[in-house]
Amino acid sequence: GFGQGDPALAAWTEAVYRPEDDVLRQIRERSVAAGLPPIQVGKMDALHLEVIARVSGARKAVEIGTLGGYSGVCLLRGMGSGGFLHTFELDPGRADLARRSFEHAGLADQVRVHVGPAAERLRGIEPDGPFDLVFVDADKAGYPGYLAWAEQHLRVGGVLLADNTFGFGHVHEDEPEGEDPGAMAALRRFSDRLARGGRFRATMLPTAEGMSLAVKIR
Ligand code: SAM
Repeated sequence: GFGQGDPALAAWTEAVYRPEDDVLRQIRERSVAAGLPPIQVGKMDALHLEVIARVSGARKAVEIGTLGGYSGVCLLRGMGSGGFLHTFELDPGRADLARRSFEHAGLADQVRVHVGPAAERLRGIEPDGPFDLVFVDADKAGYPGYLAWAEQHLRVGGVLLADNTFGFGHVHEDEPEGEDPGAMAALRRFSDRLARGGRFRATMLPTAEGMSLAVKIR
């Protein structure tokens, strides 16, 4: 394909579409300064999230995998002033940093950062459902379980997004070199169920990392 492989075209795209403003740049820089790995979504992927949230009209969203709040800010921007985000982060230090990010972005009253394993903590927000949008970007082995949760707690017409569903280029390999075979098998189960389970209409956005995009149809 053209886009991902051509650095000049990618640079042009970022120069024109301007995916990252000062607030997002500072979140990224503060995360690095705090010693976090730079594993937030790509700049253009972050813009995709904002625009998809906006197009969908989502008001209640769930994010699994907060890190420093980079993608969370984009989801909140897409939802506008009436939006609310529940975001889940295993690591308490990262959750604290994310809370500061949301404050700096002026979004603190529209978000709750839940700390702990998402598979356990998600139960706590179920009374607030059904939700309009779920974004999955955490432990890859957990993706099938997060999908099962989203099947139950998204409204019909709700949007499911999941990053890294190309499995760092190895999702399709039986013996993935340098990647955890169990995690790759989990990503395959995730895509099989999302694309063929009957509850979603799904596609794969061919971003660098692969971003699954689906709408719940029943
Ligand atoms: N969505 C973030 C962004 O783009 O700014 C990036 C998230 S990062 C790729 C994945 C995060 O998921 C890490 O911060 C990690 O600590 C967290 N995580 C891993 N396992 C988790 C679990 N079981 N429950 C909740 N969070 C988890």
